[in-house]
Amino acid sequence: MNDYFDDRIIEPTLSPEDAEVTNSLRPLMLSDFIGQSGVKDNLAIYMAAAKARGDSLDHILLYGPPGLGKTTLAQIIAREMGVNIRITSGPAIEKPGDLAALLTSLAPGDILFIDEIHRLSRAVEEVLYPALEDFALDIIIGKGPAARSIRIDLKKFTLVGATTRSGRLSSPLRDRFGMLLKLDLYTPDELATIVKRSAGILDVPMEDDSVALEIARRSRGTPRIANRLLKRVRDYADVLGNGVLTVDLVQDALEKMGIDQCGLDKLDRRLLAAVIDYYGGGPVGLETLAAMLGEDAVTLEDVCEPYLMQSGFLTRTARGRCVTSLAYEHLGRECPLADRITQGSLFDSE
Ligand code: ADP
Repeated sequence: MNDYFDDRIIEPTLSPEDAEVTNSLRPLMLSDFIGQSGVKDNLAIYMAAAKARGDSLDHILLYGPPGLGKTTLAQIIAREMGVNIRITSGPAIEKPGDLAALLTSLAPGDILFIDEIHRLSRAVEEVLYPALEDFALDIIIGKGPAARSIRIDLKKFTLVGATTRSGRLSSPLRDRFGMLLKLDLYTPDELATIVKRSAGILDVPMEDDSVALEIARRSRGTPRIANRLLKRVRDYADVLGNGVLTVDLVQDALEKMGIDQCGLDKLDRRLLAAVIDYYGGGPVGLETLAAMLGEDAVTLEDVCEPYLMQSGFLTRTARGRCVTSLAYEHLGRECPLADRITQGSLFDSE
């Protein structure tokens, strides 16, 4: 990632600054987990059924943009099921031997959480398949004609995999999950509840509920960003105010951080402006856009686009990305007449 991204306050991936408080802010049980009601209902039934049978859970895949609570949910599942959890990530499992060491250390019913599971190497994935299906490892010992395969039986465990997009997973791996759960961006009201809960834990006084909603509206539908903004605004209030958060103070602080009232930051606005200024509003391919902005295509796709699309600034068509009339309006640009007619906004506003 480049320097700009290192400083990007609304980058949804985990930063070292987040790590120290993340654990204190994580909900511990399913009932504390705010939002994602469909996912929670499914999990509650699924866990109750497994408990009633005295069985372990089938493998679960959690997918959705970063910072929405995938790791938190995996930890909640382990706590609710009363089992241990081992946390690792796709890139951290370099060799089949690393995976074998992890799997053989699991007790019956334990959960293995693999974040960024789409980044497992092919060789590691091959070892994982029989482990998921038959709870066994096939290990090759020796080389050439003397090589032989031995089978090691494993305890029945549950894999919880997390990925930003399920489409990135190879289909044999995806097929081995019994449950695929998609996490969606949170609504401002849900995020405001999360902000209030976190402010309570961190002991940050807020003038009234509209302060939490003000932070929530600028958090791109992502709890990790909401918690991070809360901490930044608290610092601001401690230094420049009397420590109590007010709407004015929040607006002032976030404006200074380059986050506008819709939650867009400099990179989001650069992206929208590039589509308007260089590609006539689109369509433009993702790779072309990434090269133009000097950014990684995966970052644009995983981090910028979900929120820009959900909030109606960007659309994705078969021929590429297009901005909407809302984007023109937000950036204070004149929307070409044809676009306004096709998008229906000409008649809304006149
Ligand atoms: P992911 O694994 O999807 O990147 P995490 O599980 O690490 O996301 O969550 C990021 C942060 O957001 C955590 O600190 C957690 O406290 C908070 N968080 C996520 N989802 C919720 C939720 N539904 N309710 C309250 N806090 C949440």
